[in-house]
Amino acid sequence: MSTAHPAAIDSSPVWFAAGYPLRAHNTFGIEARARLACRIDAEAALTEAMRDPRAAGLTTFVLGGGSNVVLTRDFDGLVLLMALRGRRVVREDADAWYVEAAAGENWHDFVAWTLEAGMPGLENLALIPGTVGAAPIQNIGAYGLEMAERCASVRAIEATTGAVVEFDAAQCAFGYRDSFFKREGRARYVITAVTFRLPKAWQPNAGYADLARALDERGGAGEPDARAVFDAVVAVRRAKLPDPRVLGNAGSFFKNPVIEAPQFDALREREPQIVSYRQADGRVKLAAGWLIDQCGWKGRVLRAAAVHERQALVLVNRGGATGADILELAQAIRHDVEARFGVALEQEPVSL
Ligand code: NAP
Repeated sequence: MSTAHPAAIDSSPVWFAAGYPLRAHNTFGIEARARLACRIDAEAALTEAMRDPRAAGLTTFVLGGGSNVVLTRDFDGLVLLMALRGRRVVREDADAWYVEAAAGENWHDFVAWTLEAGMPGLENLALIPGTVGAAPIQNIGAYGLEMAERCASVRAIEATTGAVVEFDAAQCAFGYRDSFFKREGRARYVITAVTFRLPKAWQPNAGYADLARALDERGGAGEPDARAVFDAVVAVRRAKLPDPRVLGNAGSFFKNPVIEAPQFDALREREPQIVSYRQADGRVKLAAGWLIDQCGWKGRVLRAAAVHERQALVLVNRGGATGADILELAQAIRHDVEARFGVALEQEPVSL
């Protein structure tokens, strides 16, 4: 079941010629170049790259799958192309399996591998684009599950010292599409591996309407198993979300806003149809896609950028869009949503 430990491979970074093209390394498919780039196949290569004289004084940026970034210009720094591989069961006790995956592993392939190995628990997060190392940064979530709920620890290298640091889940300070690594830790640490705790007591998490409907349509008596949930998530996502290999995008472009109860009550007076979900703390989460749709943005086009016709939360590159096109479209949407609902939309991907 185990493959090579990510830290056990030893090699040097692979350096590329100056002006390295990044189009194949971001799911929006935006054209931009990096002043310098190197590929990281081993933890040792990471420290070596950061100490290399060519990197001195340069800002660094780690690109895994590039599924949560908008490239707005050429990057005048060093791009580290994260290619650390390896996944293995590190430990098992009576209650759970502990599974480690290196940062460069493809997220969806990793989820599929855990299921094939008989370790359910990540199936709701199937088909999310990107790599394992990117998952904790924005605490990826879908269909009622966040990766934070399955995260045991995150291994990272401190950029300035090269020190290897293990963060437990509490130290990761996970929030809604948020973590320590998206804020204070952003320029400081490079994630090299993540360990997941997959509980043996498994229950399907099929409360989201789209998922419940897809499971119903597929039939089957009794509770669905993890494979059925995985297949249903894949089917729903394929039906609703654009495949970045066909139509460039970075998944949800905005976070769902969470507002205070009095603001929500006032808003519902004016907008009785508003789609909302009350949170445990009494605040209310609004569906950003619904707000955008109500402002008439679904399917609209701005030069080569557009709002996806089946999901208003996803901005797409119709071919040749620049980061500036995407951001201009996002700004126009934000303006209209704020004007009508008095709610500020926050961008999910990082602009570079
Ligand atoms: P959806 O099912 O059309 O629902 C719209 C929004 O309402 C979702 O964003 C979801 O919030 C919320 N929601 C729906 N049912 C809910 C429930 N039973 N309890 C609480 N909140 C509920 O959403 P969708 O756009 O097709 O996406 C489905 C799932 O995949 C969502 O969880 C979404 O976050 C996730 N997703 C994430 C990305 C990304 O790039 N981050 C991209 C695509 C899809 P939440 O977002 O808080 O779940």
